Formats: sequence, structure tokens, C-alpha cells
Amino acid sequence: MRRFCESETAMKIVILSRNSRSYSTRRLQAAGRARGHTVRILDTLKFGIYVDRENPQLTYASRPMVNPDAIIPRIGSSITFFGTAVVRQFERMGVFSLNPSFAISAARDKLRCLQALSRQGIGMPPAAFIRSRKDILQAIERVGGTPVIIKLLEGTQGIGVILADELKMAEAIIETFQSTKQNILVQKFVSESKGKDIRALVVGDRVVATISRSAVGQEFRSNVHRGGLTESVELAPSYERTAVRAAKLIGLRVAGVDMLEGPEGPVVMEVNSSPGLKGIEKATGVDIANEIIQHLEETLHFKDIDVRQRLGLAQGYVIAEIMVNPRSGLANKELKETGLRAQEITVLSIERDGNVIPNPSGSHRILSGDLLLCYGNRVHLMNLVAKRRPKRSGKK
Ligand code: ADP
Ligand code: MG
Repeated sequence: MRRFCESETAMKIVILSRNSRSYSTRRLQAAGRARGHTVRILDTLKFGIYVDRENPQLTYASRPMVNPDAIIPRIGSSITFFGTAVVRQFERMGVFSLNPSFAISAARDKLRCLQALSRQGIGMPPAAFIRSRKDILQAIERVGGTPVIIKLLEGTQGIGVILADELKMAEAIIETFQSTKQNILVQKFVSESKGKDIRALVVGDRVVATISRSAVGQEFRSNVHRGGLTESVELAPSYERTAVRAAKLIGLRVAGVDMLEGPEGPVVMEVNSSPGLKGIEKATGVDIANEIIQHLEETLHFKDIDVRQRLGLAQGYVIAEIMVNPRSGLANKELKETGLRAQEITVLSIERDGNVIPNPSGSHRILSGDLLLCYGNRVHLMNLVAKRRPKRSGKK
């Protein structure tokens, strides 16, 4: 454990938390102080938000707020709306937030979270979100039939996650939720997991600690709040990649990614933006709070940039993804032989087999199946994409 100050300059850090005595909040404060920073814990609900054209402001306990260098939001699910508005206001005022407000909102809603992860090569239990009573049977069937999981979109700590064994029961539960206007997901029950799940704590682009949680007795939910037993585990590389990628896709720098062991590997259930540190630090012995503060030091100077907005300033230039196929004329060439530079196209990264090669050099060989993240001239990029389509031959 590193306990001395390694940062070049001390920061003023504010932790947004409703409970200054909670384990996670206290640990983060202690870790920040141990690294030489000033750390205050402020109650999220005591802020006032003032929006105007030039001068967005926040008050705390009715007094003007002096800007810190960074905030660490710990926004509980009961105050998501107000809490994310406070974080957004800090961002507007130029204060760096460890987890961005948009990502906290995205993670909080289980459906939005799974939508963000779908089609990105990440395993997840098939799920359905429906409104019409007529769709209930079809939804249950399409996710694999009973037993089926029914869960509240914004539930937490296992509350609002129900396992329905029989069709009639599942139908009745869904109808009840719908009649009280509660949003629920109908989800495939991953029976292979046998009441056991994995919580991976992601900080930046690493998993710093992992525990497995096992449900007790008849319970299928492994949440610690439902009596789940925790133990430290080594994470297989495919699980680690999945956890880091899931956090990245949602936009979180610090996240607790919950996964099940499905028949074909990791299955992501949800991504938590304010993961509790108690159970996982105690079970693994990892000083996660220190890892988080260290990461904050390293990333403070990289503000969140909406790339599309910035690029809009340079007319005619775009960011685009190009999938390399055997016909594209790019495959099996070194990057410098492709002629992309001459067409004002820069390859920012290459994604291959789930791994990312950042900033590839000219001697990097492009392979069929690579996904190139490119920045460049819109017309030339469009030509490249157009070339991918098979030419229609005149002959039959
Ligand atoms: P919460 O936000 O309440 O923690 P989760 O979606 O993480 O909600 O579900 C809580 C627990 O229920 C999980 O940790 C897991 O043990 C169990 N569970 C949830 N979804 C499934 C599923 N599709 N298949 C099997 N078990 C599940
Ligand atoms: Mg969970």
C-alpha cells in the first residue's frame, strides 16, 4: 500500500455523498488526504443550482461555492436526478468529475446500460422491455421462457429483482408492475451461474480488485445486502476485458461491473457508478481508495471532450470507423503503404479480436477484420466506406 504523497500538486477534492460516515466515503477521504490533497465531503442535497448565460453557479448550504479541482460523485439511486444535475453543474463550471454525469445517468438505468453495451461484443442476458399486456407472453418466450428474471430498471441491492418459476406467476408479476406504472425488464435467468456472481472493480483501464459473491440458502440473488458471501478471486482475462470495456462504453472511469458466468463466458448484468468499497476492500485487501485517488491525479488534466462537437469546428473532417474486409484494398498492407495519410486520414486506433492497438505506427500491418478508428477528410473517408460495398456486376 502506498501511503505517501506522490502527486506533484495537491488538489482540492470534493466528495459528493449523503453520508459522510459511510465506509466508502471515509476511505476515499483518508486516501486523498494521505496523498497530500485537501478533501471535503459535501452533502449532495445541500447544493443549489443556478443556471444562466455566462455564469453557472452552485451554492452549498446557501453560500456561494468555491470551485474545487475535482469532484468524486457518490450518487445514491434515490437521488439520481438531483445528484446528476449537481455533477453536471460542476462540469459546466469547469470542474473535473471522476465519473461524468452522463455516465452516471446511463449506468443507473439497467435498460439504457444494456442498450449501450449491445452490439459491442459484450455478453449479456437477453432482456425485453415492453409496455403492452399483449407482449408479455412473447417477451417471456423470446428471452428463453420460464424461469425468468423480472427486475426494476432502477432497482439496487437486489431489491426489485424477482425470479418467476412459472408462466402464470411471471405474467401476474409483470402485469402488477405495469399496472403501477413501474418500469421493468424481463430477463433470461442465467441458471449456470448458480447464485454466484462476480463484481469487478474497474479503475481507469484496469480491474483493480475482484470478488465473487454467492447467494445463501434458497436465495438466488448474490448481493451483499441479501446476505451474499464474498471471496477474493482471480479474474480470467476475458472477464477482465469485458469489465473494462463495459465501464468504458458507459463512460465510467470508476465502476463496479457485475457479471455472471454464462455458458459462453462473461455475461454483464449491470455497471455501477458508485460501487461500495467495504466488502471488496475487506475481501481482497486491495487499497482501492488509493487506486481511485491515484487515477484521479493522472486523469484530472484530461477533461471530457465531446469529440463530435470539437470536430464540427473543422469543416469537412469527421471521425469514422472503417471495417477492413478483404476487398477494401487495405488488408495485408502496412499502414504506411495504404496511402491513407496522403488522403488526409489518420488512423487513431486499430481494434482487433477485442484488443485495441492505440496510435499504430506506419509499420503496423492491417488485417482483414480490423476495425480502424479514423479521423480525416469526410469525402475520402466516404470513398473508403463506399468501396467496401461489393460492386454490382452487370452480368447475371
Ligand atoms: P441490483 O442492482 O439490485 O444489484 P442486479 O441486476 O445486479 O440488480 O441483480 C441482483 C442479483 O440478482 C445479481 O447479483 C445476481 O445474483 C442475481 N441476478 C440478476 N439477474 C440475473 C439473471 N439474469 N440470471 C441469474 N441471476 C441474476
Ligand atoms: Mg447488482
